[in-house]
Amino acid sequence: MKNVDQVIRAFRDRGYKVTPQRIAILEVLEGNKTHPSADDIYVSLRRKHPTMSFTTVYNTLETLKELGEIQELTIDQRRLHYDPDITLHHHIMCTQCGHIDDIFADYTQAIQVPEEILRRFHVNGHSVQFYGLCSYCQDHGDA
Ligand SMILES: [Zn+2]
Ligand SMILES: [Zn+2]
Repeated sequence: MKNVDQVIRAFRDRGYKVTPQRIAILEVLEGNKTHPSADDIYVSLRRKHPTMSFTTVYNTLETLKELGEIQELTIDQRRLHYDPDITLHHHIMCTQCGHIDDIFADYTQAIQVPEEILRRFHVNGHSVQFYGLCSYCQDHGDA
């Protein structure tokens, strides 16, 4: 994601309204490395912005996704998460607490795509998802 001011300009250029609620959502996302879900963002803003609705959060995330400012993560089967870092990277999720971390590694050479697929596809992207137990959950055992 570009910085908040640049995204506001991109919204205006496309005729989207820029409300204080939308700006608050952009501020939560800027530089955010926690990979929040729509609900995480909604809960974190509700107190300071009592008029904030879940629909506003969801619609703003959809718009940001369309503009290519954020990426949607499907690593968690229970809910979608969002990442303002749109550079190519991969993720690992703790299967106990759901914490998601970034993995900046290039698996292009490590992953062998079968010949049979290469005959039919020109491969231009890939996504690797890892699952495990984070250090906190390893130390604290079963809840
Ligand atoms: Zn954990
Ligand atoms: Zn990430």
